[in-house]
Amino acid sequence: MKTTEIYTKQIYKFGDGDSEGNAHQKHLLGGKGANLAEMSRIGIPVPPGFTITTEVCKAYNKLGRAEIVNLLQEEITMGLHFIENIMDTEFGSPTNPCLLSVRSGARDSMPGMMDTVLNVGLNDETVIGLALKTGKERFAWDSYRRFVQMYGDVVMKASAHTEQYINPFEEILEELKETRGVENDQELETEDLKLLVKKYKARIRSLTGESFPENPFDQLWNSILAVFDSWHTPRAALYRQLNNIPENWGTAVNVQAMVYGNMGNRSASGVAFTRNAATGEREFNGEYLIDAQGEDVVAGIRTPLQITKAASVRWAEFTHTSEEERKKAYLSLEEYMPNVYKELDATQQLLEEHFKDMQDLEFTIQEGKLWMLQTRNGKRTGTAMIQIGMDMLEEGLIDEKELLLRMTPNKLNELLHPVFDPKVMKKARLITKGLPASPGCAAGRVVFFSEDAVKWQKENISVVLCRSETSADDLKGMSVAQGILTSRGGMTSHAAVVARGMGRCCISGASEIKVDYNRKLFVANSKTYYEGDWISLNGTTGEVLEGKIEVQEPTISENVNKLIQIADNYSVMHVHANADTPQSANVARQFGAVGIGLCRTEHMFFEGNRILTMRKMILAEDEEGRRKALDELLPMQKGDFVDIFKTMAGYPVTIRLLDPPLHEFLPNDAISQQELADALDISIGHVKYKVKALQETNPMLGHRGCRLGNTYPEITQMQTRAIIEAAIHLKSEGVDVSPEIMIPLTGIANEMIMQKHIIEKEINQIFIAMGDSVAYKIGTMIEVPRAALIAEEIAHHVDFFSYGTNDMTQMTFGYSRDDAAKFLPIYLEKHILKEDPFEVLDQVGVGKLLKMSIDDGRIGNPDLVVGICGEHGGEPSSVAFCHRLGMDYVSCSPYRVPIAKLAAAQAAIRS
Ligand code: PEP
Ligand code: MG
Repeated sequence: MKTTEIYTKQIYKFGDGDSEGNAHQKHLLGGKGANLAEMSRIGIPVPPGFTITTEVCKAYNKLGRAEIVNLLQEEITMGLHFIENIMDTEFGSPTNPCLLSVRSGARDSMPGMMDTVLNVGLNDETVIGLALKTGKERFAWDSYRRFVQMYGDVVMKASAHTEQYINPFEEILEELKETRGVENDQELETEDLKLLVKKYKARIRSLTGESFPENPFDQLWNSILAVFDSWHTPRAALYRQLNNIPENWGTAVNVQAMVYGNMGNRSASGVAFTRNAATGEREFNGEYLIDAQGEDVVAGIRTPLQITKAASVRWAEFTHTSEEERKKAYLSLEEYMPNVYKELDATQQLLEEHFKDMQDLEFTIQEGKLWMLQTRNGKRTGTAMIQIGMDMLEEGLIDEKELLLRMTPNKLNELLHPVFDPKVMKKARLITKGLPASPGCAAGRVVFFSEDAVKWQKENISVVLCRSETSADDLKGMSVAQGILTSRGGMTSHAAVVARGMGRCCISGASEIKVDYNRKLFVANSKTYYEGDWISLNGTTGEVLEGKIEVQEPTISENVNKLIQIADNYSVMHVHANADTPQSANVARQFGAVGIGLCRTEHMFFEGNRILTMRKMILAEDEEGRRKALDELLPMQKGDFVDIFKTMAGYPVTIRLLDPPLHEFLPNDAISQQELADALDISIGHVKYKVKALQETNPMLGHRGCRLGNTYPEITQMQTRAIIEAAIHLKSEGVDVSPEIMIPLTGIANEMIMQKHIIEKEINQIFIAMGDSVAYKIGTMIEVPRAALIAEEIAHHVDFFSYGTNDMTQMTFGYSRDDAAKFLPIYLEKHILKEDPFEVLDQVGVGKLLKMSIDDGRIGNPDLVVGICGEHGGEPSSVAFCHRLGMDYVSCSPYRVPIAKLAAAQAAIRS
């Protein structure tokens, strides 16, 4: 089948109050294209243009250039006529040239990750036409030098031909500015800009061996295809990987008439947010630059000005600038162009009401006329996500279900960010202040390059990435750094936007900092800081501090609490926590857990001198010796359970019997072995012999789980006694206790039944001896694939199943939990696996075992309670899957409880 037969419509036009597409066609037109169409449809002024669909991108990836040019030729010609008619210009005309922008636009926005070419259509002839037509020669040449640079970079890949991937145009520009003795590009004369064009072209030729094309149609085709190609750049691929965007979506391309923010001092470009993207507060905010094109604002080349007067005044206070100086240097758009500001303000309100979400806008003012270039749902921090959602609920813009569905559960992580200890912070030395671009706190060693950040992070060294400004190429470094610090750029700079999206702490525009990349240092207020020095960032206040400031655990905010309460009304599954100590049980309660789904008792044996008693038990020669040591451990275990049951009064507590291989408790180094020998009054030789004897080739598949309880029943007896005695003791004090005893690593029904008998026998003896009883449950973990296969038989004998998906993943894939890190990263990089199965539940394989065994288990026991306690219990997509399988609860780390609750509510609403 020919491509022309597959696709009937390749481009969708918009402009002049009309459009062929709409906001619901993001899959086809990309986010930018769909919203441009929508804006035009609702009467907002957008420069006319057309969107080439994502389907064309996919076809181009398969078929290549010639086929695609052939396919699009006719429709592009029609699209160009459409633009020309509205703008009353002609593409390629030497007297009345129409210039175009060619922009990427994926289904989900990927800010700054793909390419854009502006001012397409300029050449040595049309530039003169543009100058004559507008009467602005400088503007025409400024646009031309920008175009040659962008085209040379994006289409002709001039940087890729340099030795160290250095932007050759920046070098030429900086050289010229130095010769002319000027700081800003705007100070360059027309003749300088002409010289730049000449030099840029020569540089392109010398680097690539090809000439800059003068034919506007060649420029247009090459730009369109280069934007399609930019879907495949490494940074875009990395962004997709970090944000779970499928490879096969492809990007749309938007071809639009140029409007000019660089036409002099009645022109400007800007970026704005309808609400505060960092805090979520309801305040229109943004930044603009006079006489500039859009890229200048986000690239952080010049520090932009504030749109609103209030923000400008705040900025002045922040930087101790006088009112007089503020008006000279930081005048807001509200004051500078009051009428345009009014129109912009009305537009932002209209857009927010229309899209019912916080919008991130791009605009250009051409000689006093406002044009909207883009609107999209703005990226925001976790705090802002919740604040905006709650406010919009209150404002009646959205309902509860919509509120919950809008939340990205993992973003709650950011609200559980550590904060600096205020007492320590007061004493710390302030290096400087910048803009609080993305909240949170971070301490790390200074690095200046993305590659160094990655290298250091691999060695477990915390880093703060310090740059003059960041670009999309720094994404990798930003994603591993604890915090990001830039000396230039505002709240909408690349660093700020990307950091907020990642939930990473960031301070931008700390202008007192002068970065010297060559010597790997920065100077601030006459003091020098070198690579490797510790600094701390407070992204909430903008303070950059010397040294490493310790962080404190966060508390849960009022807003999160409210949100979780709403979520609880919709979810079907309960959320329990994995907690082994009274302290973590306490955190679990604070975060709203309604039970403990997994208390790993082994962790209790590592505290204080318990480990010595535990070691005594392990090294004992016979049952009698083991019982003696276990008798010593009993009161300690019982004490732990008393505290945990008390903390969890009214809620179930599932306690798992001893699970890990015993050698994990024994010392491996000579000093500790000697200490143990002395304490037990035995020879070091005997200790060494025992340690060696207990060593296993494959401990994860060895003497562990219920195999321990069946070979040493006295361990099961002691733990049962500790649990039940603690429960009866508290019951007598009026505490509501619900103990649940969990048998680990069942693979054969008999091994579980045997353990159950031991437990029940022990409990009956306790009941008789104490003259009291307590309600309890006995269940098992399902984590060995064989257990899943015989679930029906096992379920006959237990009250509950708890899926240990860590072990289940290990054994289903045959990947050792301890060694998988050697090859999993490579599997992910090569796309052999889409996700790490230890992080995100493998629904296809492991999930099949889960589904089958839940269904079978409920045949065996219709009252069977089913939950999950592997790490996946706090991962949103896995939680949703558990809901679909009909589980009763998920259990996860206390800090993930709010995330799991939100994910559980979303899953319930979606189903
Ligand atoms: C599991 O295997 O999923 C589990 C919860 O147990 P552990 O991680 O302790 O082996
Ligand atoms: Mg396990």
